[in-house]
Amino acid sequence: MTTEPIPYPTGAKVIAQALQKLGIKVIFGLVGIPIVQIAEESIALGIRFIAFRNEQACSYAATAYGYLTGRPGVCLIVGGPGVLHAMAGIGNSSMNAFPMLLLAGSCETHLVTKGGFQELDAISLLTPHVKAAVRPSLDTIRQSITHAYRNAWYGRPGTGFVDLPADIIQGRPEGHVTETIMVPTAPRGGIDPERLAQVAELLRSAKAPLVVLGKGAAYARAEHKIRQLIDETGIPFLPTPMGKGVLPDSHHLNTSSARSAALKNADVVLILGARLNWILHFGDEPKWAANVKLIQVDISAEEIGKNNGDAEHGIVGDINVVVPQLTAALVGFKYDSTLPYLQTLQASKAKNEANAAKTVQIVKSPMGYHQVFDVIKRTLNKLSPPEDGNVVYISEGANTMDISRSAFPVEHPRLRMDAGTHATMGVGLGYAIAAHAAYNHPDAEGCSGPSTSANKKIVCLEGDSAFGFSMPEVETMARYNMDILIFVINNGGIYHGDSDEEDQWLRLQENTQKGEKGGLRSTSLGWEVGYEKMAEMCGGKGFLVRTGEELERATEEGFKSKVPVVVNVIIESGSNKKLEFAWQKSGAKK
Ligand code: ADP
Ligand code: MG
Repeated sequence: MTTEPIPYPTGAKVIAQALQKLGIKVIFGLVGIPIVQIAEESIALGIRFIAFRNEQACSYAATAYGYLTGRPGVCLIVGGPGVLHAMAGIGNSSMNAFPMLLLAGSCETHLVTKGGFQELDAISLLTPHVKAAVRPSLDTIRQSITHAYRNAWYGRPGTGFVDLPADIIQGRPEGHVTETIMVPTAPRGGIDPERLAQVAELLRSAKAPLVVLGKGAAYARAEHKIRQLIDETGIPFLPTPMGKGVLPDSHHLNTSSARSAALKNADVVLILGARLNWILHFGDEPKWAANVKLIQVDISAEEIGKNNGDAEHGIVGDINVVVPQLTAALVGFKYDSTLPYLQTLQASKAKNEANAAKTVQIVKSPMGYHQVFDVIKRTLNKLSPPEDGNVVYISEGANTMDISRSAFPVEHPRLRMDAGTHATMGVGLGYAIAAHAAYNHPDAEGCSGPSTSANKKIVCLEGDSAFGFSMPEVETMARYNMDILIFVINNGGIYHGDSDEEDQWLRLQENTQKGEKGGLRSTSLGWEVGYEKMAEMCGGKGFLVRTGEELERATEEGFKSKVPVVVNVIIESGSNKKLEFAWQKSGAKK
């Protein structure tokens, strides 16, 4: 009896095996020819494949998964148009320093330049935007994947890209196939002794010290080490929007509600994993003191002194190493709680918190943002107290994001994501799916908070415009039984929204009389669009709410629900209000 020789595995299988060897648990993707074979081989090996409706949301999800788990998230897409759509995720990865391994198909090598199916020179296109771009041969698939993965992860995180021509995916490497090399966690650097002594002295001499906590600190998973430094020295801290939760919002040294006073009066600022970009007013006057001394800690040397120019005390190193070094150098030292700076912060906090409490009490019909967030917060806190860390907030949209930021307390790290460094609207639903995958699966890799058992409710706070960018992903959620709770804060438009239909009609009449065209503003969106139906049409639940009582009931039912839920919250709107843009509000120099 003759036996058939066992065929060599296909490139698709070698790729799937390489991913498995790297410890990949989830792939975020959207298949087509020929990468569908990689997806199928991966599923056969027990890797979860989450299939999206659009590469943009899918690439955003992979980057968010990278941030939440501390290892590159994997995105698998087709070539050509798939790559073009996923460029959004590449930008998101590099702007936010979120690690992503991007695998994309491409046309057969011998058809390049002939107009092959979905042909695109993705290597040339993406090289300026990624940390590594490689196209393997049949024999080097594994090294290429490892190379891209390590590059995405080590140093400042970004994207590692592997271009996979159809003939590589479908071919069978007959010769020697190198073993996948495991990629260990990146080596971590610290401060040299001289600079440590200098910086410790500077901190000891500070009269108005402040620590800024950015999303780099959250990504570093350094919360326990940072907590020790803060508790032992009594130094106040200010989280950036995604640095929120690295230390509990309820910590007595949190200066979030005295943000302006904290920045303006600080004389020495230790910056842990945050960039001095628009979010931190570039480290410039008048938001910061003119002669403030910065101790900026970053894994990326290029970041030190980039804005503000103060690089004298900069530290290139990993927060996980540098912070314990600082704590040790400052042992026995504690700031005097009677420092005038600390008193100023206390007074400012008390005043701002009292004002915020008053705003929340304003009840109107239709509801305003503050009222809506207050109802959602109180209801959620009753169902799951913030100290348990079992609610993850994803928030986007201009006013929805800005106003909700301070409305919801976050007590544990990596439980709040928003539009981020690039102020990208449309990331929300992809992020929510990533958070669900990272936190709610037996393989969940992203656990955070006191409960190690992975079981968190993902809550999206979406403006009606922001929601629109990735609406079809509600179906993705439904298909995978993701019980995500989405609030669409619906004011019929961008920013302040539009006034009602009647107003739009009146404006049209007015404009026509003046000889002008059009009744809609550039900021107008459909009036009272039934966004809740997005969930209903694919097996989820929808609620349309107008009052506080309706919102409370929908929040409670939505929280307990086992399917995706869209709560369409109709709020006040009005085109008559003067548009106020973020750059006007921030007072940034133009
Ligand atoms: P935010 O938006 O919260 O201000 P940014 O994204 O601007 O935060 O900055 C995060 C910074 O953290 C980046 O410059 C990144 O290089 C840095 N970073 C990431 N991980 C680490 C780490 N382990 N140690 C030190 N710095 C880090
Ligand atoms: Mg809106």
